[in-house]
Amino acid sequence: MIDFHCHMDLYNNPMNIFREANIRGTTVLAVTTSPRAYRATREHFQNSDNVMVALGFHPELVAARINESNLFFDELKRCKFIGEIGIVGAERFRNSYTVQKELFRTIIKESEEQGGRILSIHSRKAESDVLGILDENMRKSKAVLHWFNGTQRDVKWALSLGCWFSINPKMCSTNNGKRIIKAIPLDKVLPETDAPFIQVNGKPYLPWDETIVELLADLKSLSINDMNKIISRNYSSLISSVSFNPIANE
Ligand code: MN
Repeated sequence: MIDFHCHMDLYNNPMNIFREANIRGTTVLAVTTSPRAYRATREHFQNSDNVMVALGFHPELVAARINESNLFFDELKRCKFIGEIGIVGAERFRNSYTVQKELFRTIIKESEEQGGRILSIHSRKAESDVLGILDENMRKSKAVLHWFNGTQRDVKWALSLGCWFSINPKMCSTNNGKRIIKAIPLDKVLPETDAPFIQVNGKPYLPWDETIVELLADLKSLSINDMNKIISRNYSSLISSVSFNPIANE
């Protein structure tokens, strides 16, 4: 299994989840929500071939944590995976919108400057601003749009920019989510849980849960086996499309 957007550090028992993911060989992109959370998480989740910790700055936290920006850009030099980053346009975060947008643009530019990164991006109610910034600035990095909920036009725009999409079980149950999944070519799809925020029967999804693969296989009219093969192939091609290797740079 692959879970390309999981807040592994935010479960009640992160180390148990981390250990079990290692035992099962589950590939997890452990996104974080602030530069300091990234540092702490990286300290705890060490020596794993399959759990990768991503350097994040969640748009909902940008206003409160803007003083961590220097730390973020310092860590960015050494980290291949960046996320969760992005812009949130929901009413509650309107007063930080300009700051969010500026920081997001700077992150994309700096990632280019550093040779390209793999990015896990939040774009709720800010789809066109997110895509506009990627359109203007992104050349070497690869963007994975997490829980995308834009229009069909936005999906086409994102695809023209080479974006990928990480899909969670919730998206498979809404009409717009289903339309989006149908419009995305098979070679741009990755699964995610966004756990522990996304839950089933009051319990957070676990990174090795196969529900998302079953739902995707159904929506794409494929067998679960074929869907799994496509997902692993996609993952390998995404990872190898950005050449930055932190060990070689140390
Ligand atoms: Mn998230």
